[in-house]
Amino acid sequence: MFCVGDYSTKTALNNVKCQFCHKEITQNSLYCAFCGQKQENTNIPLSTAEKIKIYTITVLLAPIGLYWFFKYYKSTSNDKRNTAYWVLGITIAVIVLTLYISADFYRGLSLYETSIPNLY
Ligand SMILES: [Zn+2]
Repeated sequence: MFCVGDYSTKTALNNVKCQFCHKEITQNSLYCAFCGQKQENTNIPLSTAEKIKIYTITVLLAPIGLYWFFKYYKSTSNDKRNTAYWVLGITIAVIVLTLYISADFYRGLSLYETSIPNLY
């Protein structure tokens, strides 16, 4: 058995490219050694608290959650990408549910209005 695959994943994990000058830098460096730009570390998974915040906002203020979808769906971290797709799924579910409930509400309202004359 050869471990070529192992070797390549290891080097891929240890070196990332600067988001600004694209030179290779070590994965966890906060600043690029070449151009000095601050790196957004995309490999750190989201904390549970952060996920709860994102999902809560997604449910309560449906379309705003799409902000995190666009922010994370191209992320190199699986965790952030999963969060992005969950956010998308929840947003669609909430919008469909809202439309369904409001359609039902207006149907109920118009039924109520047509029944008013019967009261007099
Ligand atoms: Zn750089």
